[in-house]
Amino acid sequence: MRFTPQKPSLFGETLESLSATLIEAGHPAFRAKQIMEWLYKQRVDSFELMSNLPKSLRHWLGEQFCIYPVKPLLDKRSNDVTQKLLMELEDRSLIETVLIRAPQEGVGAEQSRKTVCVSIQVGCAYGCRFCASGLAGFKRNLHASEVVAQLMHICRMEDAHTPRAEEAIASFDNIVFMGMGEPLANYDALVRTIKILNAEWGLYFGARRITVSTSGLAPQILKLAEEGVAVRLAISLHGATNEVREKIMPINKKYPLEVLLPAAKAFQEQHGRMLTLEFILIEDINDSLEQARELAKIAYELHAHVNCIPYNKVEGLEWKRPSIGRQDAFVKVLREAGVSVTIRREKGHDINAACGQLRLKTEKSMAEAEARPGDPFA
Ligand code: SF4
Repeated sequence: MRFTPQKPSLFGETLESLSATLIEAGHPAFRAKQIMEWLYKQRVDSFELMSNLPKSLRHWLGEQFCIYPVKPLLDKRSNDVTQKLLMELEDRSLIETVLIRAPQEGVGAEQSRKTVCVSIQVGCAYGCRFCASGLAGFKRNLHASEVVAQLMHICRMEDAHTPRAEEAIASFDNIVFMGMGEPLANYDALVRTIKILNAEWGLYFGARRITVSTSGLAPQILKLAEEGVAVRLAISLHGATNEVREKIMPINKKYPLEVLLPAAKAFQEQHGRMLTLEFILIEDINDSLEQARELAKIAYELHAHVNCIPYNKVEGLEWKRPSIGRQDAFVKVLREAGVSVTIRREKGHDINAACGQLRLKTEKSMAEAEARPGDPFA
């Protein structure tokens, strides 16, 4: 389903597209750069605050555009410093944006390294079996502006309590497209978003600090390799043979390992950078030592880092997290094969941080609340 907003958001514009629109309406092109400064450096949320623009231009902008097409509804912070924002879009769809603070020795949570995990679709059509976002199906693609606006909300939120270094425009260190949705299935919005984030007039955020995580859309991986945006690529592998992967990732039927892995290799060779293979460890499904040995071969061949994530319980799904002993034995096989591997004991258990869970719960409460008076978010 395609959604057309009442007014486009300025966060979807590039300097070129905004200059062209300004010229067409009889305004000087140089105003585009000033507008971008107000958006990305000053972070204003109202046209009135763009004080170096003539009043007539501010009025015209207000008629043609909105600024934020996304508004935060709920803000949940967990003990382990994962913070999840539930955002509402103009059509009342809900998405999630997560801020993860990596603890660093001798540094408080506010100064620690920060990664923002953004959504790029409402729901998801790919139905990976461990994922809450896939449970409710696909609703629509996000516009680039709706993705950029999630990040700018985080910047504004962080600005409120952490002073920004003079040279820094963004208030975080990394961006991962790992929230709701399959980024490569919303390809044009993904590439436009990356270009806006990357641009000197935009957030001026280095592409190598952006990670695109995919369930394995092989043709789009090849296309992205040629795109000229040097982002990092993470592949949700979760099974080291077709037989096991198919139980977890339905996409594997369309793009089995013999199609996916050469595409990943082509991306790796094009950019010369290590890939990441995500591997959720699920008891008795993919946590055997044979799987570990097969995974080691794949990682070695792709020059990839493996990120093991013990399964995070999703309401409505039966799978279990393996014991610590089984997790450690799996990782040991990879290490002994010389593979770079980390095990990430999932953050944010207590705030439904597994992809899509907060949205699912809130949609349920909204549906229940519609049957009775009152505010579901109260
Ligand atoms: S893991 Fe990603 S691609 Fe798979 S269903 Fe969830 S949101 Fe979609």
